[in-house]
Amino acid sequence: ADRVETLEFQAEARQLLQLMVHSIYSNKDIFLRELISNASDALDKLRLESLVDKDLTVDTADLHIEIEVDREARTLTVRDNGVGMSRDEVVGLIGTIAKSGTAELLRKLRESKDAAASQELIGQFGVGFYATFMVADKVTLLTRRAGQSGGTRWESTGEGTYVVEPVDEAPQGTSVTLHLKPADDEDNLHDYTAEWTIREIVKRYSDFIAWPIRMTVERSGEDGATTREEQTLNSMKALWARSRDEVDEAEYKEFYRHVAHDWADPLETIHMRGEGTFEYEALLFLPSHAPLDLFSPQGRRGVQLYVKRVFIMDDCDALMPNYLRFVKGVVDAHDLSLNISREILQQDRQIRAVRRRLVKKVLATLKEMSAESYHTFWTEFGAVVKEGMLEDPDNTEALLDLVRAASTHDPAEPTTLRAYVERMKDGQSEIYYATGENRATIENSPHLEAFRAKGYEVLILTDPVDEVWVERVGQYDGKPLRSVAKGQVDLETDEEKEKSETERKEYADLLTWMSGALAETVKEVRLSSRLTTSPACVVGDAHDMTPTLEKMYRAMGQ
Ligand code: ADP
Ligand code: MG
Repeated sequence: ADRVETLEFQAEARQLLQLMVHSIYSNKDIFLRELISNASDALDKLRLESLVDKDLTVDTADLHIEIEVDREARTLTVRDNGVGMSRDEVVGLIGTIAKSGTAELLRKLRESKDAAASQELIGQFGVGFYATFMVADKVTLLTRRAGQSGGTRWESTGEGTYVVEPVDEAPQGTSVTLHLKPADDEDNLHDYTAEWTIREIVKRYSDFIAWPIRMTVERSGEDGATTREEQTLNSMKALWARSRDEVDEAEYKEFYRHVAHDWADPLETIHMRGEGTFEYEALLFLPSHAPLDLFSPQGRRGVQLYVKRVFIMDDCDALMPNYLRFVKGVVDAHDLSLNISREILQQDRQIRAVRRRLVKKVLATLKEMSAESYHTFWTEFGAVVKEGMLEDPDNTEALLDLVRAASTHDPAEPTTLRAYVERMKDGQSEIYYATGENRATIENSPHLEAFRAKGYEVLILTDPVDEVWVERVGQYDGKPLRSVAKGQVDLETDEEKEKSETERKEYADLLTWMSGALAETVKEVRLSSRLTTSPACVVGDAHDMTPTLEKMYRAMGQ
């Protein structure tokens, strides 16, 4: 008995479990989808391991998922004969949450007052295995890692601690047994031991799973005798391999949830097929919200790679550039080796060609999205897409057309560069922009005064990346992009020029004296036409860094 260890959940895992036990999420059915999804992943991993490692002695003849209920004991078991987990994996994967952004999520949850907002947050995060504690007051897991002889038993009530214990005998793979909460309590749970309930949930959420999901069902014959037979509950059709008109919206959505580990609906679905020398199918999704780890270097990126229906890897970054790292989905390439490595993929000419086509397709899809969807998209991912202008010079034109920027023209409505150009005044040859931390700071800045006085529109750019891309791209439609805070701004009419020339002569001595007195801090003091009410302002040289960029570099330690 001393082989039994009682361990504590990591603090963040404990907090998340609390939320599950107290069921802040209203749709409890999804616990089954999470278990099936994990089982399916485990089968994918085992098949791949057995293909790559010929010495691994595992049985892959009948990989499947099995659901078993015991009505008397009120238990439900989901079993797979997949890759399984070692003792340390159980502790590391089930006892802790490795996802980046967990702390951030929990902080937001604590702050969020209303239940709907909390649900949305939790949905964005995806609680996975812990969803079982919405319907079970105790969960038992028995698992054996492929290739190892002994297994591990894990059990918890979801309240701070769990026990782990080595077991001598365990079947290959993992079984998760839920000791169900009473069905008729105030939470109004479905009866998860009823055949039709399970059947319905599997059909709704897991029909596309590529492995058979089986259950033994009872039927009473005409003579009153009960017969038992095993049935497969899902159709197992690889969604991406079907033609578009054979797949309905609901199926796409469920598949998205499975690949993206996201509970929300996708914003857009892209289903495409490449024929010719290099065949592939791709089913890609644009999420409706940014993940918490979008800007974290450890964040998940890239799509899943399959080779002729065999899962090869998650997060295949060779297929999506970094600035489209939020795109989720599957690419099934037909002519690759199953042993392909990440390093080889990066070099592979065909993969690079596929990637080019996927990028074009994603950019074209963005361009054609409805105004409303695009607005959501840009709010969530605009700052990332703009990185593309540094990363992907081949698509600069397309990316510039995707840009939406706040502007002085209409404070409520971001503008496209095209619309800005169409509104340019007679004689205006440049596109003016101002960068800064936020809109209010920019609008109160003295740099804007002359532009406002002249009625020139100024773009208001507040993402850190804005500084960099406007510099790099330099122009749109032949019109230079010009910072209002840099260099000499030529907004004067001839008459005004004459006037300032006289003024310059008049004040020459004063300016020389000021330049001398301020020599330590500024390069030059000059009269300016850019101010209307402020007496003076500091401007940068045309090629200097702007203050925001300076700050950004300083923050990066450079
Ligand atoms: P996610 O699936 O998003 O990673 P989960 O909470 O669902 O998060 O699962 C956590 C981890 O536990 C999985 O990533 C996987 O490594 C492991 N795991 C869960 N269920 C199984 C299973 N049936 N077989 C093998 N490993 C599993
Ligand atoms: Mg999971």
